Amino acid sequence: MSNRSTARQPLTDETTEKAAPVGGGRSTWWGVCLWLPACVGFAAMAAWAAFAVGRHFSPLLVFPLAVGLVVGASLVAMTRLFQMGHRPTAWLAVGLSAAAVVGGQHYFSYRAAVAEADRQSEQFQKTQAAFGDLVQGSLPPRPAGFVDYLRAEAKSGRPLKTVFGRCTARGAMAWLAWAVDGLLVLTPAVVMMRFALRRPFCRRCGSWYAPRRGGQLDDRTIRRLAGEFNLSLNDAAGGGHYRLICCNQGCAPSGFSLSWEEPPGNARSSLVWLDDRQLARAVEILDEARRATDSTT
Ligand SMILES: [Zn+2]
Repeated sequence: MSNRSTARQPLTDETTEKAAPVGGGRSTWWGVCLWLPACVGFAAMAAWAAFAVGRHFSPLLVFPLAVGLVVGASLVAMTRLFQMGHRPTAWLAVGLSAAAVVGGQHYFSYRAAVAEADRQSEQFQKTQAAFGDLVQGSLPPRPAGFVDYLRAEAKSGRPLKTVFGRCTARGAMAWLAWAVDGLLVLTPAVVMMRFALRRPFCRRCGSWYAPRRGGQLDDRTIRRLAGEFNLSLNDAAGGGHYRLICCNQGCAPSGFSLSWEEPPGNARSSLVWLDDRQLARAVEILDEARRATDSTT
């Protein structure tokens, strides 16, 4: 049995977690051949949605961050939903999805520019056929390709609306602004996945650990549990809650996190890994506490 105590404030769920005594998931054919392409496909759809929304509303910095949050949350949900526990595959999905969502927005913008150029050309030819030489002028050139379009866009400049006023990023500055956008998409996705992958994965039954039971604890029960699992508890400690995390099949060990307050207002937490016998003992104490609470209400 191992345990860890922290004295952080404020306390979050993640601070109570550490690598479980079991390793990450193994690489699987379906993870690489199905799950990974599905993530990238989803990112391509997110790119289209971001492009459609961004044409009308795309506040500087906030918009790419929001896109990154959506992509990150979706990828974390995909790992949990499909019990994809192979960490390198998950990181590859983050990298490829961020590239797909950033590159995809530029690509859909390019396709829209080509469609608009074709529409204008057709309109121009119709007008010329109807009015002949009365129609003068020329149309802007149609983008010759994706890279050509990006170069032309960078050359003409990207308008930026900031709190200090409007400015236009041209040339290298336009490319730099796009790179910053890309990083703003990538960063939230990386942070979310990093936290998600801190949760243990059981190789035996191939599932992520998940909270199975939790709640508030009275001072007496906290002391009983602390005594049972050798946690150092201040005499004035109190006001705690617990959480029991297990894999789908309940393979040992199970994670038991205990959080409590210690004067002067320090939030402390501890995570212990329990074998079957210890888990049964913890459940027994918790059930007794629940029965005691039920009988007094
Ligand atoms: Zn398991």
